[in-house]
Amino acid sequence: MSLNDTLEPIELTDPQLTQQRAVLLEKRARITGAMKDAEHQTDPDELRVADEMDLSCVGYDQAFEYRLRDRDATLIKKIDKAVRRIDAGEYNYCEECENIIGAQRLVARPETDLCIQCKEKQEHTEKSYEKRRQRMTSFEA
Ligand SMILES: [Zn+2]
Repeated sequence: MSLNDTLEPIELTDPQLTQQRAVLLEKRARITGAMKDAEHQTDPDELRVADEMDLSCVGYDQAFEYRLRDRDATLIKKIDKAVRRIDAGEYNYCEECENIIGAQRLVARPETDLCIQCKEKQEHTEKSYEKRRQRMTSFEA
């Protein structure tokens, strides 16, 4: 698409790292703010209303909410780790292969700790594991 795509990945400069840190902390604050809202919704009054509703429906909603919080918690952990990596001066480098992750990728995904190659490898591994698991289940059936 652009010339940049063909260039070697470049490191973020110190001012850019400071900027990334601010972006990460702001993202974290948005998520924790949202999580507080979710907690607020389950106050005793809400639960009393829920009692009168279809229980299976409430169960589904709660499961959905827990899944969302679970995902948020995972993202917060990733953000905290990224901030620690910035402070330790490791942020530019892939945790797996120690190559430069690349400014473009870091700006697009501030909480990442893998270069695109390692990320793709990881996703491929997860997918083939999933396929193997599905095959095994179908053998059992
Ligand atoms: Zn890598």
